[in-house]
Formats: sequence, C-alpha cells, structure tokens
Amino acid sequence: MFPEKSLAWGQSKSGIRELAAYGAARKAEIGADKVFDFSIGNPSVPAPASVHEALRALLEGDSVTLHGYTAAPGLMSFRQAIADDLNARYDAKLRADMVYVTCGAAAGLAICTHGLLCPGEKALAFAPFFPEYRIFTEAAGAELVTVPPAEGLQPDLDALERLLDESCAMVIVNTPNNPSGVVLSDESLARLGKILRDAEARFGHPIYLVSDEPYRELVYDGNPVPCVLHYYDDTILCYSFSKSLSLPGERVGYLAVGSAMRDRELVFAALCGAARGLGFVNAPSTMQRVIEACLGQTSDISVYKENRDLLYNGLKELGYDCVYPDGAFYLFVRTPEPDAAAFSERAKKHELLLVPSDDFGVGGYVRVAYCVSPDMIRRSMPAFAALAKEYGL
Ligand code: PLP
Repeated sequence: MFPEKSLAWGQSKSGIRELAAYGAARKAEIGADKVFDFSIGNPSVPAPASVHEALRALLEGDSVTLHGYTAAPGLMSFRQAIADDLNARYDAKLRADMVYVTCGAAAGLAICTHGLLCPGEKALAFAPFFPEYRIFTEAAGAELVTVPPAEGLQPDLDALERLLDESCAMVIVNTPNNPSGVVLSDESLARLGKILRDAEARFGHPIYLVSDEPYRELVYDGNPVPCVLHYYDDTILCYSFSKSLSLPGERVGYLAVGSAMRDRELVFAALCGAARGLGFVNAPSTMQRVIEACLGQTSDISVYKENRDLLYNGLKELGYDCVYPDGAFYLFVRTPEPDAAAFSERAKKHELLLVPSDDFGVGGYVRVAYCVSPDMIRRSMPAFAALAKEYGL
C-alpha cells in the first residue's frame, strides 16, 4: 500500500527529535530552568544584525521580484557571490555555474545521493556520522556502509581502504563533525585523496567525495578547516547557512562541484536532474537575496567557544572521558557503561538530556549539544556531578 521504506522512516522517530520533544514536555511540566536540554543542534546565538537589515531593505523593494521564482539552481548573482567568496578565502577556483543553491544541507545531500548513486551502489561514511546520511542513501536505492572510527574518533583510513570495493561510488566526510566536533586534518585529507585516486584507477570509475560542511566556520582554536577541494578533484562541497548564520529554519545552502573534476558538466547536470526529481528546486528566494548581502559573515561564534571550554573542562574535571572538539557545537562523551541509551535514560533522572550515540553509527557515547546559554552549562554542572557520582567516576 505504501512504499515500505517511507512508512518505516515516517514511523521510526529520530532519537534526537524524540529527546527534544521529551525536553519540551518536561520544561512545560517542571519549568524551563530546571531542564538541561543538550539535545538539539539549533543555534543559540542570533543571526548577525546585517541579516535583518538586509531583510528590511528588501521589503522596501518590489514584492513581485522578491517573492518570484528564481532559476532552479538559484539566483545567478548569489551563485557568483558564493563562488567569489570561496575563491577569495580558499583559492577554490570554483565557477558560479557549478554552484547549486539548495534548501539547506539536507537537500544538498539528498540531491548528491540521488544524482550520483545508482541503485545497488555504495556510499561510505566515517562513523560517527549524521544519521540522515543513511536515509538519503537508501532513498536513492543505494547502501550506506559505515567505516568504524580509529582512536580519538579520527577517520580510520586503513578501514576505508579495506571497505572500498568496485560498487563504491561515493564517500561522505563531515568536517567539523557532528557529533564529535573533530576536524579532518591536512594529513588525513591528503591520504584520503590518494586512497580515492588509487581506487578510481583500480575500479575504472569515479568515486565522488561529498564534503558535508555546515559547521565550516565554527572552529575555536585558530586553525581554519582545510578546504577539501585541494586534496581530491572529484569533490562536491555541501554547505548550509543554518549554523554559521544561525538560519536553520530558512533552508538555504549549496552544492559546489569542484572545477578540476573531469566530468563536472555531466555531474552538475545529474545533480540538477536529481534536484528536479526530488522537487528541491528554487531555494527560498528572499533568503537567497538576504544571504547574498551578508556573505562572509557569521553569527557571534565566540559564545560557542566559551561553551566548549566550560563544558569540556567541567566534564573532564568530573572524571568524564570526552573527545576534544575542535569545532561544531557538540561534545562527544564516552559513557561510563557500554549501553549509551541506558546512560542517557539515567541522565534524564538528573534532567540532563543527552543524545545516545547509536544513531550516529557508534556505541558507547552521548552527544552533548552545547549551542545553549553558558548560564545553563554552569547550572547543569551539579547534575553532571551527581550522575558521575552514581557511576563512581
Ligand atoms: N549535515 C550535518 C552534519 C548536520 O549536522 C546537519 C544539521 O544539523 C545537516 C547536514 C543538515 O543541515 P541543514 O539544516 O542545512 O539541512
């Protein structure tokens, strides 16, 4: 009666959304200040003032143009501005006609899996990874293969080499990573590029590297995130303004196909076709114009750095084993018992909402989303301390 997959995805709840819904109900019950909700990656700092200024200015202009359709891949001026911005910052050598403006990174990823994977092919993703990768890949009739992590949750490139086979047509990387905050190093990317070039030569077909980077600007120790285009030609950047400009509900991001890719025109056409098939054309027109006016800016991410330091240092002091997060706004904490879901349930008794790691493709951790107020982090420390005590940390 219904496609089985669609029904199953619709009926199975996302662990993150379920915990967030529990949090909302609990706050209504006992008061928002009593619940320490670290469940969801919703930016906690406002968009820069320039976003609302640009919006106000646009509202003074012609409404028919403002709300009218744009071309399917977005406004050419916006696509050009995106290419110019990346070229200035990273010497990326991108062309505007190889940029496709999407409804956030979610649409960008779905467009990649539908446009570049044939049914029966495989995409590989390094665990821990954003759970929706599996949905987007399987929706395209392909299979998502998990590459287990190495020490420190760095990508295990030896494991990747072992898992790559002829049916692999895509590798997805996410840097800085949700849920671990890990940033892929120069060395890892250089080796990844070599492994994929060798595999392409061996199998005689392209393997596309999709670099999912909605947290690209959210790094805190002064080291910029390396530009993946420099390490491998068959790369597609997948970006979102959800986090860097605090505009997650506005649904704007983009795909950018690397200029050194041999079959880039065909690849871009396949992406356009997939977007058409999915109905993901013409990202919101007003917001394309607003973001064009604010390109290169970010929200005040210094709050996330303050939160990162407060939480990482605070939990380490209490005896928790934490992965040091270079970027994004998540802390990945090893659970003192192997069952992450059981630990998360026990944390709830202290009004701490922590996402168990199983949905991210690894067991034994919880994700703590620190896009919250620093005050909440300070107030949550006694609850973390009580939980640590229960486990004898
Ligand atoms: N990729 C990762 C790693 C994410 O964490 C998210 C959202 O949290 C997305 C993609 C989707 O982003 P968007 O809100 O732009 O669809």
